[in-house]
Amino acid sequence: MPKILDIRVDDITLQEATETIIQWTQDNEQRYVTTPNPEILLESEKNVEFKNALNRADLNIPDGTGILWAAKYQKITENGRRKKLKWILSLLSILFFPRYIRSELRERVTGADLMKNICLKAPKNVVKIFLLGANEGVAERVKEELEKKHKNIEIVGTYSGSPKLEHDSGIIEKINSTTANMLFIAFGAPKQELWIARNLKKLNKIKVAVGVGGTFDFIAGTRKRAPQWLQKIGLEWLYRLIQQPLRIARIYRATIKFPVRVLKSRTVSW
Ligand code: UDP
Repeated sequence: MPKILDIRVDDITLQEATETIIQWTQDNEQRYVTTPNPEILLESEKNVEFKNALNRADLNIPDGTGILWAAKYQKITENGRRKKLKWILSLLSILFFPRYIRSELRERVTGADLMKNICLKAPKNVVKIFLLGANEGVAERVKEELEKKHKNIEIVGTYSGSPKLEHDSGIIEKINSTTANMLFIAFGAPKQELWIARNLKKLNKIKVAVGVGGTFDFIAGTRKRAPQWLQKIGLEWLYRLIQQPLRIARIYRATIKFPVRVLKSRTVSW
């Protein structure tokens, strides 16, 4: 498995991840899933607790074109030669020959697509979902939307909650009072991953927890996702910038700081 900036990222497709996670809800073990993107990897370099939470996850899906690029870039520079030229050409290939970067990690798998696909594919009476996070009322709307679309879906609890430490026990009690075996948590990174790492063991019926960032907002319609064609050519960030200009610092980190950091990084381990 590729390690990018010291974080393991798994080579898995949307379909494989969906099937694996649905299967996990029927196991005895408890597991969790994270969605590393360029910003998350940069953050993990500053926060060792977050880094550990990511590397201890059972599945880290590649949530970003930048992640696919970084895995490819590391592979083609294993011999250490022409790093800068390969850096420029591989970055250009994202726009002009996107298939090129998909050899080490086959597919970009976003948290939003994963959550939707699990809801679509889950067989009846198998996956019982608890939705935690986002602003007041959003999780409730996500439940309504998903139940409208998917006949088999069972959402057994929703709560906006708060990632603050002092709220942990109240949230745990709420989740444990339901029959949920799967938790989708939308506190944003790194809060949601730290929350899971700290509390998963106390959630006695939850078998899989997935941190899904802004996904609740997309499903509830409180925020719009970029059109498919923009997502495909790796420009979802541009759409988000136009929608939320205040994200400029985050977008700078994902599109400039991250590639530069990968170029400078000497940790090429496979
Ligand atoms: N959020 C929350 N509590 C917090 C901070 C964030 O519930 O203390 C929610 C927020 O409402 C949003 C989600 O976490 O629904 C993450 O949003 P973000 O824009 O960070 O998502 P990403 O860019 O990671 O997809």
